[in-house]
Amino acid sequence: MIEPALRLDQVTHVYVTERAASLAVSNIGFSVSPGEFVSLVGPSGCGKTTLLSMIAGLFQPTRGLIERSGQPCERPSPRIGYMLQQDYLFPWRTILDNVMIGLEVNGMVDDVSRTRVIRLLDELGLRNVQDHYPNQLSGGMRQRAALVRTLATEPELLLLDEPFSALDYQTRLQLEELILDILKDRNKTALLVTHDISEAIAMSDRVLVMERNPGRIRREIRIPDIIRCAGPIESRELPGFHPLFHEIWQELEDPERKGEGR
Ligand code: ADP
Ligand code: MG
Repeated sequence: MIEPALRLDQVTHVYVTERAASLAVSNIGFSVSPGEFVSLVGPSGCGKTTLLSMIAGLFQPTRGLIERSGQPCERPSPRIGYMLQQDYLFPWRTILDNVMIGLEVNGMVDDVSRTRVIRLLDELGLRNVQDHYPNQLSGGMRQRAALVRTLATEPELLLLDEPFSALDYQTRLQLEELILDILKDRNKTALLVTHDISEAIAMSDRVLVMERNPGRIRREIRIPDIIRCAGPIESRELPGFHPLFHEIWQELEDPERKGEGR
């Protein structure tokens, strides 16, 4: 059996503040195989960011086990790339200097890594703006720069926390396609958090639907090959797409919210 790239077993997290203790996620268990693309969808507050932060090694779960390639993840590592909704590019650094940051802090700057970064900039259509500053770029370009920075250290596992949600629809679809091509090409493992059901279906091999209070996995949905093999834009046109959308939509209907008139 192939060792999973990521494995969570009975992961529970309680946030303790001065006033209260709140159960953010409860008994989460799933595995992700090497090269697989898995999405987490669920209402806000169901613990998606909490899960990604623990997988990134930023803090430990209160209970349970998280392993990356068979090793417990106790601290952040350059083997993991974490990409967020906000790009966090430094405004005083050029795009090239921004995308080199991860390599710099990890002492990984050399000819090989520099060549790799230049190639990535090229592939993502940023070569001609590498000497520009972030405020000279559009939102989509900035997210592409953030992706180059994330990929520069050659992480095996990518954690994507709603990386497209601040972008307009068209840019978002283009970026979905571009990112998926690049990740599949390099056989990267990815875990995407999104509010957008279509995005989850269009990009993933598998979708984990979460519920809240406490955060738990409600269902796992395997995306059929015909949709998986089509690109994110093309797949939205396929006949099987809408029924899947509907299925996940229904799964997300929160019984607490029904009757609230929302
Ligand atoms: P999501 O990303 O799915 O919106 P989060 O992981 O951000 O959910 O939050 C899950 C739950 O944990 C929410 O109820 C939230 O209020 C709570 N929470 C998140 N971060 C903290 C924190 N630092 N301290 C206390 N409670 C938190
Ligand atoms: Mg979140």
